[in-house]
Amino acid sequence: MRARDEAQARLVRTDERIEGLRRERADEPADDEHDPDGPTLSSEWTMARAQREVVESAISEIDAALERVAAGDYGRCTRCGRQIPAARLEARPAASLCLDCAASVGS
Ligand SMILES: [Zn+2]
Repeated sequence: MRARDEAQARLVRTDERIEGLRRERADEPADDEHDPDGPTLSSEWTMARAQREVVESAISEIDAALERVAAGDYGRCTRCGRQIPAARLEARPAASLCLDCAASVGS
């Protein structure tokens, strides 16, 4: 699935970014109290970590969708069993709920 390839590529880029930040942090002197780059670096770190979590959850959503494809359940709401509208699947190929159920669980 193309969406999964894209998510996987994003994960790789995010990991590269995290690795780069990790190296930069390792190069910092232990006492970074007077280092003007310190706070910037750590907020970038936090952002990169948060981004990684988003990408990871996108991938697990896609994997779940691929399992439903294999089981022949793809495109059916996992909550009420109704068909998910094609327009919704186009917008969110990994959607597991129909609009009504998504609205009622608040996601
Ligand atoms: Zn539903």
